[in-house]
Amino acid sequence: MPGEIADDLAGQSVLVTGGAGFIGSHLAAALTDHCDVTVLDDLSTGDREAVPADAEFVQGDVRDAVDLESVMAGTDVVFHQAALSDVGASVRSPVEGHRRTASGTVKLLNAARREDARVVTASSAAVYGEPDTLPIRETDRKRPTSPYGIDKLAADQYTRAYADLYGLPTVALRYFNVYGPGMEAGGYSGVVSAFLDRARNDAILTIDGDGTQTRDFVHVDDIVRANLLAATTEETGQAYNVGTGTGVSVQKVAEHVTRLLDADSEVVYGDPRDGDIKHSRAAIGRARSQLGYEPSLSFADGFKRLVEPASPIS
Ligand code: NAD
Repeated sequence: MPGEIADDLAGQSVLVTGGAGFIGSHLAAALTDHCDVTVLDDLSTGDREAVPADAEFVQGDVRDAVDLESVMAGTDVVFHQAALSDVGASVRSPVEGHRRTASGTVKLLNAARREDARVVTASSAAVYGEPDTLPIRETDRKRPTSPYGIDKLAADQYTRAYADLYGLPTVALRYFNVYGPGMEAGGYSGVVSAFLDRARNDAILTIDGDGTQTRDFVHVDDIVRANLLAATTEETGQAYNVGTGTGVSVQKVAEHVTRLLDADSEVVYGDPRDGDIKHSRAAIGRARSQLGYEPSLSFADGFKRLVEPASPIS
């Protein structure tokens, strides 16, 4: 993990909301050697076992004033990951999604404001919806297609507004498709984990549509790196895309998985998913120039790391 960046946070008190989830648990693990880490998670989808032993764990809800007050006291930096992160669940339960993702973020920002704590909010490529052009720039039109994307856009804009209105040092990071150890099968990079599981058993890999749809798959280590940079940047009050700048087709994912695992899986094609975005790829120039962010893992290398047993985390 990027120790030299985490060193800049040495001795600080950090709060990771959603720290029992996929990305939050990696973030907490990267920080425990350098900072006092508290994890706040209601375990609605997270796993207590994923929280590093050196972090203080508080089971609670970001929407609950009492829970928030108890964890926020003395906090220097908040990495806000808690959300209803499942797009399908947000379509089934838009009110619940709104409460968790949009309202939860306002409450969190408000509590951070009282403490004058920096907030780095997990935003999403979902704020853009179907892009007009590629790569997607931060200034491009936002036309989210799901309640999740709309709530993330609200969270993202509240994060900026707290900087503009109240001078709070905040940053929103628009993650693209994050993959890595511990990712959820149904998540953003669900196709990666689903194909890996199936190929390990030489089972059929089903591609929705013709497989030419592309995504910007970014390794969770690079997401952690971007968060650490956002935690110390002077360039606050902004949103940054965090991806690799490269689009990889679902067809390519299937080929990588079968080759790396030497699997005998057959690839079959199903109906395209309703409302699926055809192509998504981040422009990362703003994160590069203002945060000093550089993706360290290509898709091929990140993938190799996924399938290698007990691969070391740098
Ligand atoms: P995740 O679902 O694994 O983690 C979210 C965590 O938040 C879970 O542990 C859950 O229990 C917790 N949580 C939910 N509501 C809460 C609440 N009200 N109070 C306290 N805890 C609560 O998701 P993830 O993949 O780790 O994503 C982390 C963040 O990044 C989310 O905000 C997500 O929307 C965003 N994001 C993820 C991706 C991706 O590819 N995984 C891409 C773009 C954005």
